[in-house]
Amino acid sequence: MPGTNLTREEAQTRAALLDVASYTIDLDLTTSETTFASTTTIRFTSREAGASTFADLVGAEVHAVTLNGRSLDPATVYADSRIQLDGLELENELVVRADCTYSHSGEGLHRFVDPADDRVYLYSQFEVPDARRVYTTFEQPDLKSVFTFNVIAPEAWKVVSNAPTPQPTQLGDGKAQWNFPPTKKMSTYITALVAGEYHEVQDVYEGKYGTIPLGHFCRQSLVEFLDRDELVKLTRAGFEFFEETFDFPYPFEKYDQLYVPEYNMGAMENAGCVTLRDEYLPRSRQPRSFYEFRCSVILHEMAHMWFGDLVTMQWWDDLWLNESFAEWACYHAEVEATEYTDSWTGFANARKQTGYRQDQMPSTHPIAADNYDLQAVEVNFDMITYAKGASVLKQLVAWVGLDPFIAGLRAYFKEFAYANATFSDLLAALEKSSGRELKGWAAEWLQTAGVNTLSPSFALDTDGNYASFAVNQSAHPDWPTLRRHRLGIGLYDEVDGKLVRREYLEVDVEGERTEIAELVGKQQPALLLLNDNDLAYAKIRLDERSLATVVAGLSTLEDSLARALCWGAAWDMTRDAEMTATDFVHLVLANIGSETDAWGVTRIPVSAAQAVNMMAAPGNRAALKAEWEEGLRALLLDAEGGSDHQLTFARSFAAAAHSDAALGDLEAILDGGLVIEGLSIDQDLRWTLISGLARNNRAGGRIDAELAADNTISGKEHAAAARALQPTAEAKAEAWEAGFVRTDTPNETHRSIIFAFAPSGQDDVLAPYVDRYLEAADTLWEHLGTHKASTALEFAFPRALASNELLAKLDAWLERTPAPPAAKRYVTEGRADVIRFLAAQDKDAADA
Ligand SMILES: [Zn+2]
Repeated sequence: MPGTNLTREEAQTRAALLDVASYTIDLDLTTSETTFASTTTIRFTSREAGASTFADLVGAEVHAVTLNGRSLDPATVYADSRIQLDGLELENELVVRADCTYSHSGEGLHRFVDPADDRVYLYSQFEVPDARRVYTTFEQPDLKSVFTFNVIAPEAWKVVSNAPTPQPTQLGDGKAQWNFPPTKKMSTYITALVAGEYHEVQDVYEGKYGTIPLGHFCRQSLVEFLDRDELVKLTRAGFEFFEETFDFPYPFEKYDQLYVPEYNMGAMENAGCVTLRDEYLPRSRQPRSFYEFRCSVILHEMAHMWFGDLVTMQWWDDLWLNESFAEWACYHAEVEATEYTDSWTGFANARKQTGYRQDQMPSTHPIAADNYDLQAVEVNFDMITYAKGASVLKQLVAWVGLDPFIAGLRAYFKEFAYANATFSDLLAALEKSSGRELKGWAAEWLQTAGVNTLSPSFALDTDGNYASFAVNQSAHPDWPTLRRHRLGIGLYDEVDGKLVRREYLEVDVEGERTEIAELVGKQQPALLLLNDNDLAYAKIRLDERSLATVVAGLSTLEDSLARALCWGAAWDMTRDAEMTATDFVHLVLANIGSETDAWGVTRIPVSAAQAVNMMAAPGNRAALKAEWEEGLRALLLDAEGGSDHQLTFARSFAAAAHSDAALGDLEAILDGGLVIEGLSIDQDLRWTLISGLARNNRAGGRIDAELAADNTISGKEHAAAARALQPTAEAKAEAWEAGFVRTDTPNETHRSIIFAFAPSGQDDVLAPYVDRYLEAADTLWEHLGTHKASTALEFAFPRALASNELLAKLDAWLERTPAPPAAKRYVTEGRADVIRFLAAQDKDAADA
């Protein structure tokens, strides 16, 4: 019983047999509010007469199946999400008439009714294998074809797909039909349909290869937040950069970007029809890191138009390459073509950290995972895919040089345009353009898991100069590979109260110990920084003197990327129980006020909060919590009016507030009794403050009152989260029901509730949910589906209750559970966090 699974071998067999000439997809979106009519006509050839194959269709009510004019009985041929096709001819036509179901999980064709005005919005989301929830497919990336969509919808709607939008034909009865022209050749997973009462604006990009129409779409209730000029500016800058760099014209006919509600991810690279989460059109003040990230998302999806959509992976084995490349390309483009010229610093402070974290989990896997079937793709699609992959591509660029790297890419796009390729094809192109042998490099970086740690090892002579200097490399015993690294080393001295770089060198590091002869005889600096310029993917350690320099004055280090590496090293040491949580929190309180990197400002306080709440020794925690709360209050009051620092510290203070005085401050800020100059108490910040109160059971009637004033989907999600945060048995029971039991909680509301369910400091009320969590985890994957189950298992895991007793329960569960690997993985990861937190608590108890 394959269920919704599909193996690589089945896909290879099918691709060897078939060529898919065309799809015609007739959809009627006016039939009901729960289902829509879907008729698919697929023309395809078979290399063998009389052979058998199957088509894919999930969760449909099939009315008729016709193969080459022969009517097949749906009850016989449609089972288990597949339509069995026997007796193929050399040329075939398959027609399947069915009703499919709208989703509320963000998978397939999602249907949303805006509570602000009752307008209806639909959008599709197909990656990895969900086009088959909307029409009949051969659901695998290497059976590319052309797609003709014919869509019946209410005449007042916008209907958008991959091909340029036609003029609709009026059908009467308030309906109209959109007959789209055939698309360019593409894979099923990047086809798309977006329909509803969307607001639309049109601009153009005039480039070296001609004009590209640029559409932007959003819900009617968000029109005032669509910052069109900025979005068009970034989009134009991206096209100019990529068309030039890739030396290949934009491969599709138009470029629409549609901001859609209740979206599971950041965005999706549907060819010419990119969907993005509409939280990217913010209604309240956001810090620069928010806009920097949005810019990276826009450029990431645009990079996929070439890398992913024009040239597509053959099978999901190369999903990592698809995502890693788009990640690398978007940061590269941000630096080269937009105002976000220090994006690699933001990458180091935020994105890259998620890769390091994931890579130290017991569930880590090689970047190039063996995705033998679709279930394996679910298990292996994570921050190794995105963040580690992008970091390693950055290292590859340092290894071969930027110009040869780009030259290899250009050749690759030309050779495989509108077709499929594998990583070996890219590697061959890069070897040719760079003249370097890369198979060995690829084997050690892509086919093995784990992160290396690099530390300085030296002796000093009597004058304080290095008598010897080496870089030591180590690895976790479970992932023992040592690798070759292109590594920057920076020497920083204190000059007039600043840390100034005296010298920078780049070396190749290999094996357990690499002697660095160039440093012998050089005076020991105040700060010796390994991985300066952040070329390498490795954890770095600071020697004793360098750590003291960082603790005494990190903010006097002027280069933001160098600071990001120091922040990262201190956080790694804290997570590895080599630095106390208390010392880390002190480092943050002393230096975050003058951090200038947008991502540093917003992300580092989140790490500090984790140190306070999870990693401080139980005996030290109350004092550290008080210090953290007071420190944030002082930072908030000292911050420049209207600055990102002020906004970030207000948010962090709201999350840290627990004393009577601080909670009183939150109330006073909300009610206007405490005015902080320059801090705009807008709608989202109001919800942040109310959440701070709710977490301490001080929200009272404020949640209902605020929701009455903010009757939007965003307001509903915030209210649901605030309710779930309350430390009462009733609130947790209600949140549990919505998060783990009911299947009809909309996906984004579900996520809001899950994120709020299990905060620190609510041990008593959460204790009964440890057993319930584990019991639910046995069957949750099946019960809630991939997306919601993974959200629930990851973010409602009882991390805050870290203890040896919890560990024992987790171990017993892992022994006995029938849960699938994808579900077990989240428990394994939570367990790893618990072990880390307990070790950090021991360190903090001993040394703080
Ligand atoms: Zn992507």
